[in-house]
Amino acid sequence: MTTENTSAPNFIRTIIEADIAAGKNDGRVGTRFPPEPNGYLHIGHAKSICLNFGLARDFGGTCNLRFDDTNPTKEEVEYVDSIQEDVRWMGFDWGENRFYASNYFERLHALAVRLIEEGKAYVDSLSAEEIRQYRGTLTEPGKNSPYRDRSVEENLDLFTRMKNGEFEDGTHVLRAKIDMTAPNMVMRDPTLYRIRKAHHHKTGDTWCIYPMYDYTHCLSDAFECITHSICTLEFENNRELYDWVLDQFPDLPCRPRQYEFARLNLSYTVLSKRKLIQLVEEKLVSGWTDPRMPTLSGFRRRGYTPEAIRDFCERIGVARADNMVDIALLEHCLREDLNNRAPRVMAVQDPVKVVVMNYPEGEVEWIDFPYHPEDESMGSRQVPFSREFYIERADFMENPPKKYFRLSPGKEVRLRYAYYITCVDVIKDSDGTVTEIHVEYDPKTKGGWSEDGRKVKGTLHWVSAQHAIDAEVRLYDRLFTKENPNDMEEGKTFKDALNPDSLTVITAKVEPSLKTAEVGTHWQFERLGYYCIDPDSTPEKPVFNRAVGLRDSWAKKAKKG
Ligand code: ATP
Ligand code: MG
Repeated sequence: MTTENTSAPNFIRTIIEADIAAGKNDGRVGTRFPPEPNGYLHIGHAKSICLNFGLARDFGGTCNLRFDDTNPTKEEVEYVDSIQEDVRWMGFDWGENRFYASNYFERLHALAVRLIEEGKAYVDSLSAEEIRQYRGTLTEPGKNSPYRDRSVEENLDLFTRMKNGEFEDGTHVLRAKIDMTAPNMVMRDPTLYRIRKAHHHKTGDTWCIYPMYDYTHCLSDAFECITHSICTLEFENNRELYDWVLDQFPDLPCRPRQYEFARLNLSYTVLSKRKLIQLVEEKLVSGWTDPRMPTLSGFRRRGYTPEAIRDFCERIGVARADNMVDIALLEHCLREDLNNRAPRVMAVQDPVKVVVMNYPEGEVEWIDFPYHPEDESMGSRQVPFSREFYIERADFMENPPKKYFRLSPGKEVRLRYAYYITCVDVIKDSDGTVTEIHVEYDPKTKGGWSEDGRKVKGTLHWVSAQHAIDAEVRLYDRLFTKENPNDMEEGKTFKDALNPDSLTVITAKVEPSLKTAEVGTHWQFERLGYYCIDPDSTPEKPVFNRAVGLRDSWAKKAKKG
């Protein structure tokens, strides 16, 4: 594993430390990350990845990647591939330990037959609807199915015929014979197997009965000798069944335990694959890797780094109480990471032309610009200065209020690393829109510093007009306008909270050094934010995604306390 141990204490660590101290599992720690390959991984999965792989790393154990592929109708190879890519991108390595629940179909089936033989499971022929009715409610006990007392022979025969494809979907299921009056509804004769005549991405058409999650997961954990099976809180009630299944097979080589932690909820975001699939299928986003998606591949394309996401997961910690994490914290982690690593370049997003009236026509000066103000090791590049260049429209005001330190008539400002300029004239079109700003430069301020010590307050970024490259810049805003899109008023769904302005595409003027920049590289556009080059880029037209702006609302809040 490539990431260093920086983990903060949490209740699961405490449990593991106690287990090691007590000599449980011979001091061994085995965890697993068990995604169902029915979608791309999202930032919630990152929390689980960091936790499971992080524990294995810190306790010298192993973390398996296990595809929980028991539902053939929803699972696809595309998802398996993307999940592996994303786990690796996060900086973790499962080594040899990649498994599929479907690898265990034979063993799981053999154990199910054993349950039947021991009178602990039966074939039920009620319909799904009847099974629901018989189950009872939280306040009322369930009642036994009329098929519950079938003989072992009849159950074995029916289960074999289920397996052989003699019955249609939904006609029979295999259920554990536990207790229809159990206070925990999960224990009211849970379904272990169902008929699903569907092609499976790994096992093809070999099977037409598929084991349920609650039966599969605990046994897969035991087959792999997982010691600590960590899942999210919604499985708390299932723990009793987890233990029940394992208790039926005392001869299994290992006895894993399940522990639950609170899932990540992130503001202005949905983190449920079911909902993310809807966004993709209904084309409300461009796909799973749309930079607005909370998927790891979306974040990657947007310009997030694994370092930032790991830092985020570390800071949010692991607890047992559900809460909502402010997305501003995630953005803050990205800024912190890229601040150290992203080279600074100049780009103008909303350009207005400036002409230096006293600068010789046709002349070009190449100025050495460092890539990072504090980190010399990042080197420098040459940036051209000439008579005409662009600045941001917002960096000029004809009638500025007090304390406006940018350009305005008669005012002097600094051009980053170039010269001091003073505005001498403004050209406007018939609507009053500024089309050109005329300035004069002071040749004695080369490099952006005045020989006579004269100070200016404003420093502007700029791009030489004749050298500028037109770049497509995709500006992203939050995908949802509501802090919690999962919690909508009556009659509305999370889709009603979609932000219609989550993507704005503009053409910016960027400095020519960016011509050779590679897809996936990160840049700070001075004074604007952090950007990443999109795979849609071409040599003719680079495409930049704005990962995050520079204004850090999290740091501000943290300061206020
Ligand atoms: P979703 O609810 O988004 O469909 P899931 O739990 O069905 O997610 P799985 O593929 O089954 O997705 O999840 C793999 C692992 O990731 C599980 O251990 C699950 O508990 C964990 N996980 C999923 N979502 C989150 C989350 N929001 N926060 C923390 N862990 C999560
Ligand atoms: Mg799931």
